[in-house]
Amino acid sequence: MIIIFEKNSGRARRDEAASAAEKLLPGAALRRRGQRLELRTRHPEKLADAAPALENLPGVEKVSFSECELSPLACAGGDRRFSSPLDFKRGPALIAGPCAVEDEASYLRAAAELREAGAHALRAAIFKPRSSPYAFQGIGWPGLRIIAKAKKLTALPLVTEATDTRQVARLAEVCDVLQIGARNMRNYELLKEAAGSGRAVLLKRAMHATLREWLLSAEYLLSRGARKIILCERGDSAGGPVMDMGLIRKARKITGLPVIADPSHASGNRRLAAELASRALRAGADGLMMEASPDPLSAKVDGRQTVSVETFRTIAAAACARNRR
Ligand code: PEP
Ligand code: MN
Repeated sequence: MIIIFEKNSGRARRDEAASAAEKLLPGAALRRRGQRLELRTRHPEKLADAAPALENLPGVEKVSFSECELSPLACAGGDRRFSSPLDFKRGPALIAGPCAVEDEASYLRAAAELREAGAHALRAAIFKPRSSPYAFQGIGWPGLRIIAKAKKLTALPLVTEATDTRQVARLAEVCDVLQIGARNMRNYELLKEAAGSGRAVLLKRAMHATLREWLLSAEYLLSRGARKIILCERGDSAGGPVMDMGLIRKARKITGLPVIADPSHASGNRRLAAELASRALRAGADGLMMEASPDPLSAKVDGRQTVSVETFRTIAAAACARNRR
């Protein structure tokens, strides 16, 4: 952490800040460099709590942190590419399925065909966060039986979105990975609940969230006991397709966690989604989450960005050729 002093603040102010820092962060190493005071501690998790008091001192202009000081667990690095329920060590992991489960027949058909086309896990959303309260909100709890059936028929793990803390325990009984959607990346109570579920958690980056905010949300999960975390770059399609390949690389490097890409929501368009999928894999993404179904044209949600099973098969074959899966 660096404490940066105002230009005209004198030595007395800097001494005052140094002793406050010593009290708040016992054992921290302090180094004075002109108008800056650098602080190193073996307990970086304490910095977020100490910073407001330091920032409030007279003569202090601001306090700045590195990403890893704020999210030490997320930044621990090393190879954390776990193998269950998804195996990220053997090449890109492919999660596919319609945006939402709509009814039993169409979902079971999609699940079977996507498995055959190369999916390693199924998107299995029964709760949908929608911009409009009048739009389809997902099939809800009746869908749990349907996705459980799909899991049994295909033997594929299920990835499902929890939109509320009250859904977590029941979803975790059946589903293998709990998805925290872009809108909920900053829903800290939901993050804590998902972390305690014992299931892997897929954490999407919120629209416009910085790397630091994304890692801090991962830190909520790690600090509450989640061991298997998948980060997912979902970009933003509002002003044209945007997917930040640089962030995928950085997040992988800093955290050692698997980082996958969601070309569907990043593009909003099925042709562009297919293109973005291969770009994301070339950029080093550990996998893809793709909206795919046998009948995208009749989808109630996100049909425009849903690829056909045939397109998904081509994407899966290319991913497989890239990495000896
Ligand atoms: C989804 O995966 O269908 C979804 C709602 O995504 P996001 O949270 O990225 O909008
Ligand atoms: Mn969707």
